[in-house]
Amino acid sequence: MKLLEYCLPDASTLNLKHWDLDAESHQMVITVCSIQTVACCPLCQTLTRRVHSRYKRTLKDLPLAQFGLTIMLEVCKFFCLNEACRRRIFTERLPTIVAPWARRTRRYAEQLTAIGLSLGGSAAVRLGQHLNVAASRNTFLHLIARLSFPEMDTPRMLGVDDFALRKGHQYGTILVDLETHQPVALLPDRSAETLAEWLKAHPGVEILSRDRSKAYKRGMSEGAPEAIQVADRFHLLQNLEETLEKAFKGQVQVFRRIEQAQPLGNAVVTPWACELTPQPTITKRAQRLERYEQVHILQQQGYRIQDIAHHLGMGKRTVYTYLSHETFPEWQPSIRRRGSGLDPVLHN
Ligand SMILES: [Zn+2]
Repeated sequence: MKLLEYCLPDASTLNLKHWDLDAESHQMVITVCSIQTVACCPLCQTLTRRVHSRYKRTLKDLPLAQFGLTIMLEVCKFFCLNEACRRRIFTERLPTIVAPWARRTRRYAEQLTAIGLSLGGSAAVRLGQHLNVAASRNTFLHLIARLSFPEMDTPRMLGVDDFALRKGHQYGTILVDLETHQPVALLPDRSAETLAEWLKAHPGVEILSRDRSKAYKRGMSEGAPEAIQVADRFHLLQNLEETLEKAFKGQVQVFRRIEQAQPLGNAVVTPWACELTPQPTITKRAQRLERYEQVHILQQQGYRIQDIAHHLGMGKRTVYTYLSHETFPEWQPSIRRRGSGLDPVLHN
C-alpha cells in the first residue's frame, strides 16, 4: 500500500483508498480521493470550503510494471460563494494530476505525446503496444496537434529549401535555423511573396541560405534586403562539381598525353607539366549534356516541368525543349529559339 502511494500522480493531493488487481487481464484499478478542503472558483477565483457533492472520474494512467493502471478519482463539487459569479457550482481543479474533462492523467498524456513526437502516428502505435501504453494513431496525432509552438527567436542564419507535400504537385518551404539545426517554420508554398512576407514579419535575419531558385532569390531580396544570400551546402558542392568537371573536360587532350606518356616509364607526369589549353567548345557541350541528363532523370522521378525548372534554376522552356528530345540535341535551345539554326561549332 505504501509503495502504491509513491506511485500516485501527486501523493500530496491524493489519498489512496483501495486497489484491485486482475492478474488475468493484467489490469490494476486504484481508488483515490482528493484531500483538498479549499477550492478556487475557476471563473471568479473566489476561495470556498462549501462542498456540494462528490463524484468519480475514471482516468487512464501510466502502466505499473506489466499492469495497465486505471485510477478512480473521487473529486468534490463546490459552491461558489461569490453571489455576483455566474458559476454556482464547480468541480475542484487538480492541475498537477489531470486537466479538466481529460480522461487520462497529465503524466500519461505527456508520455504519449513524447512517443508521438518521436515516432509519428503509426510507429508510435506499434511501440506503444510493447510499452503497454496502447493508443490509436489518431490519439497520438491529436496530442501532437494540441501542443503549442515553443517561443523562438528569429534566427541569425536561416536556411530556406522546398519540400514536397505531394510529390510532383504541391510543394512547401521549410525554414531552418542553421546555428541550432532546428526547423523554424513551414510555409504553405514556395513563392517569393510568401517568403518575403515571413521575412518581413521576422526581421533580424543576417544570412540567408538557398538553392538556385529565382523565386527564393526574389523573396529574400524583398523580405530581407539587408541579409546576405549564400548558396546552401548542397548547391555549393554541386557548383564545385560542375566547375571541376568543366575544368577537367576542357583538358581532354592533356589527359590523353599523360595516358600516353605513363607506359613509357615510372616517372609521374603531372598535368601542369603539359601545356594547358582551354577548350570552351567541349566545356559548354558537356555542361549542356549534364543538364539534359539531369532534366530527364528528374522527369523519370515524376517531377513536373516547373518543378524541374525550379530545382535546376533553368527556364521552363529550356526544360520543355530538353524533354521533347529523346537523345541529346547537338544545338543550344536558346540559339534555336532565336532562329539562328544549328550551332556550327558543336558540329565540328
Ligand atoms: Zn465564482
